[in-house]
Amino acid sequence: MIILKTMKLKKHYENGATIVHALDGVDLEIEKGEFVAVVGSSGSGKSTLLHMLGGLDSPTSGRVMVDGKEISTLKEEELTIFRRRKIGFVFQSFNLVPVLNVYENIILPIQLDGNKPDKKYVNNIIQTLGLKSKLQNLPSQLSGGEQQRVAIARALAIKPAIVLADEPTGNLDSRTSQDVVGLLKVTGERFGQTIVMITHNEELAQLADRIIRIEDGKISGGVAI
Ligand code: ADP
Ligand code: ADP
Repeated sequence: MIILKTMKLKKHYENGATIVHALDGVDLEIEKGEFVAVVGSSGSGKSTLLHMLGGLDSPTSGRVMVDGKEISTLKEEELTIFRRRKIGFVFQSFNLVPVLNVYENIILPIQLDGNKPDKKYVNNIIQTLGLKSKLQNLPSQLSGGEQQRVAIARALAIKPAIVLADEPTGNLDSRTSQDVVGLLKVTGERFGQTIVMITHNEELAQLADRIIRIEDGKISGGVAI
């Protein structure tokens, strides 16, 4: 089943007098449960693509379908609801709340949505990500790798269908990066999530089921591994 699909997707930015074609006609299909790495040089359009897939920004033209629903035409309020229900975001900067402990950080999005955490599911995530002994710690008391594992747990806590990760290991050393992406993969398999991860690290990209290459806003090749 195709869970993510883009058709003739374009995104242009106006930069003063010049127009930047950040995405220049992207056709993409991603299967439910797939783990896809998006690679390409700086400025090639990777973040823009992720933003379009996650409804963080609207395309200039073309379509984005998520789980059979077209999101490219949704209004801002509808997009917010869509994101909260369907998408878990993981960014390079961990964006944890410094005054909340690890457990509070993980369940924060659930609470902000006015819901109670599914304790069994949340504990399962915590266990899988190896965070059980850190739940009472503040983010400042954790290593970078641990902080990113908390950010992943937080992204997964809302039971998203899709996890979008933008250079999730950009601030981590290479060994920790391998561990974190390995865990991302394991959680995706265990909890049935589709993962799209931007990375400029070819070694990390090899952990994915498929690599999509972007060059100048276009897909230049996809490799099934
Ligand atoms: P990547 O993630 O591959 O580094 P981006 O998607 O961030 O690439 O950027 C693609 C192109 O669009 C670049 O030329 C970048 O400068 C430009 N761009 C991205 N965001 C904006 C913006 N908000 N305003 C203007 N130009 C932008
Ligand atoms: P950086 O590595 O420059 O700190 P990030 O990887 O954290 O950037 O974020 C990449 C992009 O995602 C940026 O354009 C940023 O504005 C956006 N972003 C970061 N965090 C969030 C968030 N929580 N919600 C929406 N957009 C975000």
